[in-house]
Amino acid sequence: MNYYSLHHKAQKASFKEAVINGLAPDKGLYFPEKITPLPAGFFKNIEYFSNEEIAFEVIKQFIGDEIPEKKLKEIIAETINFDFPVVPITENISTLELFHGPTMAFKDVGARFMARCLGEFNKENREQTVLVATSGDTGGAVANGFLNVKGVDVVILYPDGKVSDIQEKQLTTLGQNITALKVDGAFDDCQDMVKNAFLDTEIKRTLTSANSINIARWLPQMFYFFFAYKQLKNKEKELVFSVPSGNFGNICAGIMAQKLGLPIKHFVAATNVNDTVLNYLNDGVYTPKPSKATISNAMDVGNPSNFIRIQELFNNNIAELKNSFSSFSFTDTATKEAIKEIHAASNYVPDPHGAVGYLGAKEYLKENPSTQCVFLETAHPVKFLDVVEETLNVKVEIPSQIESVLNKEKKFQKIKTYEELKAYLNS
Ligand SMILES: *Cc1c(COP(=O)(O)O)cnc(C)c1O
Repeated sequence: MNYYSLHHKAQKASFKEAVINGLAPDKGLYFPEKITPLPAGFFKNIEYFSNEEIAFEVIKQFIGDEIPEKKLKEIIAETINFDFPVVPITENISTLELFHGPTMAFKDVGARFMARCLGEFNKENREQTVLVATSGDTGGAVANGFLNVKGVDVVILYPDGKVSDIQEKQLTTLGQNITALKVDGAFDDCQDMVKNAFLDTEIKRTLTSANSINIARWLPQMFYFFFAYKQLKNKEKELVFSVPSGNFGNICAGIMAQKLGLPIKHFVAATNVNDTVLNYLNDGVYTPKPSKATISNAMDVGNPSNFIRIQELFNNNIAELKNSFSSFSFTDTATKEAIKEIHAASNYVPDPHGAVGYLGAKEYLKENPSTQCVFLETAHPVKFLDVVEETLNVKVEIPSQIESVLNKEKKFQKIKTYEELKAYLNS
């Protein structure tokens, strides 16, 4: 399968080239040249397929013959070896839990899939270094996903004192091919250092990024929507997804699933007060803004990088987009109220991102009461322990995945300047 750049100035790339490049040389995001709907029989019989079989059917056209079928099946089996349950919350609202992976963040699926694709493409032993800056969840998922992948070193920069203790443990206790650099600075400083390194011709290593613009992190997120449909298809009401959104990669993958023929009536992009997309839908002008800090901090994004892919999926036509896509924005106060409301309704403990998704579902149902809404629960509440325990006055039980890192020793190097990062990378 070939991919074109959404800036339309770079040459088309194969799946392999697009995965290795991340961003196209003209700085545009890659987009598949062709999207072919799956046969009706696949949807009719979906409950007879295993998750692995579904994932293979969904992703194979986007890879073509660039990974042998047997190898692709192995990659999929390793990527999704955990559950994706749908849990009812109220009569018309349920949640799809995406946090059963090793770091309890939904980014596990994309990171694990991308890591294994890169490992496969690195068979000739070309050494690569994945360099990422993290404000929390991404780093853990990437570190874990790439652990022990041959030919790939991972260097993670994170801001001193700005990630939670659990998140820091997830970054710093793996060892092997994963190195954590603790930066005396803020997340933006980490991000700037990474950007500098990518532009610096004196860096002797081959650097790659692992953020959500990479097609190998973006596309496997389509699986979630099929897994939910498999569990819900026999209900009579039409299906709507409310997706807590930051960079809009996850919801964009959902729209891809719809293009493949999955019967989804509507998408709700639920955001915190970072409402760039809502404003665009209201007044037709896309104006990026600096991000604002919230309690759903994985969605603190003022210029969502994947929104351009969503526009492409709707032929850059805002009327067409609004037909199948809405956005609602919620404050931290509303989010905390929602955490309480969900807990009161069903004894369910959501995380702040899931709670924003729930609010999006509720808002949509006001106008469309005869649909069934699924919000995506993108992180386990333990990842946002302070907010959740304080809001609900309950103790969240620590799951075994997290428990196992808590007693391990943190290992990191401290750095302060770009020169120190450069010296590390060239050492
Ligand atoms: C990354 C993240 C999101 C946002 O996903 P996007 O694909 O960037 O829109 C939502 N919730 C959690 C917990 C995340 O880590």
